[in-house]
Amino acid sequence: MLQVKNISFRYKTQPVLNNISFNVKEGEHFSIIGESGSGKSTLLKLLYGTYDLSEGQIFWKKKQILGPKYNLIIGPEFMKYVAQEFDLMPFTTVAENIGEFLSNFYPEEKQIRIKELLAVVELNDFANTKVKLLSGGQKQRVAIAKSIAKQPEILLLDEPFSHIDNFKKQSLRRSLFKYLKEKKITCILATHDKDDVLSFSDHMIVLHDNKIMASETPKSLYKNPKNKLIASFFNEFNDVNGDIIYANHIKLTEKSKLKAIVKECYYKGHYFLIEADLNGKSIFFEHDTDIKKSTIIFLEIIT
Ligand code: ADP
Ligand code: MG
Repeated sequence: MLQVKNISFRYKTQPVLNNISFNVKEGEHFSIIGESGSGKSTLLKLLYGTYDLSEGQIFWKKKQILGPKYNLIIGPEFMKYVAQEFDLMPFTTVAENIGEFLSNFYPEEKQIRIKELLAVVELNDFANTKVKLLSGGQKQRVAIAKSIAKQPEILLLDEPFSHIDNFKKQSLRRSLFKYLKEKKITCILATHDKDDVLSFSDHMIVLHDNKIMASETPKSLYKNPKNKLIASFFNEFNDVNGDIIYANHIKLTEKSKLKAIVKECYYKGHYFLIEADLNGKSIFFEHDTDIKKSTIIFLEIIT
């Protein structure tokens, strides 16, 4: 188990994290979410031992993770960290980058392992391409493959798919997370994308105001978002008399107290997001078809 015990951290004077505690079980998929600047990257860096803590302790099993004051080389050997800005060797090939940490003592096994890793990140056709010729998203995939080459016990991923386009993202996400679960690699990721979390995470924490604002399973937070910040992470939502109601929980009905007038329709592929005026305030809901502007409608909330 990874145990984070009452840690606090400041870069200079401004506190970034204040008295943060949580545990991550072995093999668990754990997400850290929060607005930009809320300290997600800082927290991952602290887990990796990049900085000395102002207060608190971090343990993996019985080993304490310590900062640079206590270590010549940053980062414990059982852990790998893929930074938001990844660090690769530009003038060597994808295969050489991925294999950088693998021993040359068993060349055949090394080639098999590189092939397996290329498949996980779907870069089979780029094995012999020099990294400098790759797109940002492809480089990110090389960095991910490199980080799992020597099977770490814990993998820290900082917004791992942020440079990867939608064409690739969905299948890559499934392939990587399935691989990590199979190999029982504990995965802690910082993300702003609900799709990284909902289908994959066992647990999630929300950082806000230097603290953990929520710590639950994604399903329970989705079903019962405690506040607007959490709701906005998951979906378009409305504040109806103080209640947070997702746009997909409102639908048309024949007659109700919620009488509204359609203002805009946004095409979303398999549905339309309709914006309507309800007593002078916008209300958003999802609907199968578009609805003409100025149509008078009645809405009901489904729970
Ligand atoms: P997130 O990853 O959630 O966007 P960060 O952890 O990158 O947040 O940043 C948290 C806060 O710490 C921000 O206010 C940011 O400006 C500050 N910060 C981040 N890195 C440094 C640094 N190296 N030196 C000083 N302040 C930093
Ligand atoms: Mg960040």
